[in-house]
Parts: sequence; C-alpha cells; structure tokens
Amino acid sequence: MKTFVYVDHFKGEVQPASWEALGLAKSLGAASAIVFGSSVDAIAKTAFEHGADEVLVAEESALTDYRAEPYASTLSALVSSQGPDLILFPTTTRTRELAAMTAVDLNTGVLTDISALEADGDQLVATRPIYEGKVLEKTVCSGKPVMATIRGRAFPKPEADANKSGTATKVDVKSDTLTTVEGYSASESAVNLGDAGVIVSGGRGVSNNPSLQPPAGMNEKQAELWRAQQGFALVTELAQVLGGAVGASRAAVDAGYIPYSHQVGQTGKVVTPDLYIACGISGAIQHLVGMRNAKLIVAINKDSDAPIFKQARYGVVGDLFQIVPALTEAFKKKLGK
Ligand SMILES: Cc1cc2nc3c(=O)[nH]c(=O)nc-3n(C[C@H](O)[C@H](O)[C@H](O)COP(=O)(O)OP(=O)(O)OC[C@H]3O[C@@H](n4cnc5c(N)ncnc54)[C@H](O)[C@@H]3O)c2cc1C
Repeated sequence: MKTFVYVDHFKGEVQPASWEALGLAKSLGAASAIVFGSSVDAIAKTAFEHGADEVLVAEESALTDYRAEPYASTLSALVSSQGPDLILFPTTTRTRELAAMTAVDLNTGVLTDISALEADGDQLVATRPIYEGKVLEKTVCSGKPVMATIRGRAFPKPEADANKSGTATKVDVKSDTLTTVEGYSASESAVNLGDAGVIVSGGRGVSNNPSLQPPAGMNEKQAELWRAQQGFALVTELAQVLGGAVGASRAAVDAGYIPYSHQVGQTGKVVTPDLYIACGISGAIQHLVGMRNAKLIVAINKDSDAPIFKQARYGVVGDLFQIVPALTEAFKKKLGK
C-alpha cells in the first residue's frame, strides 16, 4: 500500500498529529510525506527522521501561507500523477478544508477524525466517534484514493531518529489563485489542548473560596472574577509543573474566568490527554463528551455526589484551594522542580 501523508504546519510549526499519521502510514506500507510551503527544508528533514520513505515538497512563495485553492490544486495534481492508495491528514481546520476540496477534485470521499484504521481484505475500515463520542462507527470510503483525517493522539507517534535522512523530491506547484494573505492577528492566547499530554481544567468551583478577601471597592461580580483568577492561578501552576495545558468548563468560560480557547466539551475542544485533572467541575454530560477519552481522569470536587466521580479513576473529595496547591507541591518534589 502506498500512502501519502500531508504534513500540516503553520509558519513552519508542524501539527504533531502529522507524525502520528506518518506512523500509521508506515504500519500499512510505504509512506510519502507531502510538504507544501516555502523554506520547508527543516520540515522535510524532520519528516525523514520520523520515518518517511520519501518526502515530496511543493515549494513556492505562492504557497507560503495556506490557501485552499492552490494547496488543493497542487495536491490533486500530485495525487493524479502518482496514484497513492491512501492519503492521511492530521485533523485541523486547514486540513478539513483541504481534504474536502481535494476529494471533490479527485471524485472520492474523506473519512474525518478517525481513531483507528485496519485493512480488511482490499478495504480499509476506519473507526470514528459519532454522537459526541457515545458510539464508535466503522466506516469505509468507496472512492479511490481513500482519504482520511486522523484524530490527534489517537495513534502512536513514531520516535524521531536523527540518523534517518534523505533528499526531498520537488513536485509541481499549481499556484493559480486570486487571493493573498496580508497577515494574521491572534484573537486569543494560543492554547493547544488537542496535543496536550496533560490537561488540568478548572470549572465554576475555581471562584468558590469565600475565605479569600478581594481588594476593597470591588462589586460582587468583580470579586467573583478576582477569586476565579486566584483559583485559575493554582490550576495553571499545577499544569505548568506537569508540563501540561489549562482547560476549563463552559461555566468558567461563560462567567468570564478564562477565554473560550480553553473550553473542553461539546461546544469546546474534544481532548484525549494521558492525564486529565478536573478541578471544581461537576461533570455535566456536555463537559464529559470532551474529555472522557482521556487515559486517566482525576477529579477534585467538594461534592462527593458530583457526576465527574463516575468518570474519574481517582477522586479527591475536598476543597480545590487546599488540594491543588498540595498536589503541586508534591509533584514539584517528586519531579525535582
Ligand atoms: C448546548 C450546550 C452545550 C454545552 N457545552 C459545554 C461544553 O462544551 N463544555 C462544558 O464544560 N459545558 C458545556 N455546557 C454546560 C454544561 O451543561 C454545564 O453547565 C457546565 O459544564 C458546568 O460547568 P462546571 O462543572 O464548571 O459548573 P457547575 O456545574 O456549577 O459545577 C461546579 C462544581 O464545582 C464544585 N466546587 C465548588 N466549589 C469548589 C471548591 N472550592 N473545591 C472543589 N470543588 C468545588 C461543585 O461541587 C460543583 O460540582 C453546555 C451546555 C449546553 C446546553
């Protein structure tokens, strides 16, 4: 089986699930990494180190910034000339668009956000979560080539080996496009929850510490936000000690404690870290669908009946303002930080 793996990157920073896709491709046969952009030598080198048998590079200033039209035209032309059986992408906002447009050009289909892929005779059978993760669906793509975007952290990432190298092959660029990107502006602090191995999340409970006295002159809402800041400072410190990211429930986001980019759940991000620590989060179904596939869930909550404890492997019934700093100190000692 010949597989193309599209290496998705933003300004040279590769989405780690691209390498997970490469590992999956290698488990099925020969894997070619596809890299688009300008000045992408470092990415091509890293693709070889992660096990690519060949690296096909479309490099031109017109491809410096991702735009659907030239990227899809270039990919469609490359696929038409080389005939891979399978094309894998990491699941990102860009690749959802790129894969869909390329599939239209090639008259095939895309299996999105898959979490497993097996060969069954001549067919590739993909598994993907549906109905907010309550059901796993097995699905096939009847078009050729099969195209699929893979869920981040669902497949093992191959170890990079600095001794592996190769020479990238340049391929043709189809750069007809009527648009240019003038620039980017950050809308919110960048949080990459999808790739985080550890997530420490805070909920409405992070503002619930009546013994904390806010500075004089604050009204009730300001005092609540101030308390939430103290709570999230504890959550953030624990996340930092563990080398993880900070998540949140929607109640915390809606109350203005933390930006939306941190939200986990049905209307936030779906995450699959190795460790998820929920602090002051009740465990509403809309939150659970975003994190219940974490490998290990720890819950800290005052209420022993909180539904989150049904999902958690380890539960601590207590006040997060005591438990979280104690955990942070214990991890600091254990990890020598
Ligand atoms: C269409 C729709 C989509 C939604 N999408 C999402 C989503 O994407 N993500 C999401 O999270 N929610 C979502 N929700 C909201 C969801 O239903 C819940 O309202 C929300 O998850 C509750 O957040 P919470 O657990 O932080 O707050 P609460 O339910 O109020 O729970 C707070 C918890 O903190 C505990 N607590 C309080 N003080 C302390 C303390 N000092 N120490 C320890 N524990 C303490 C309490 O015991 C309680 O269990 C959605 C709802 C709808 C209708």
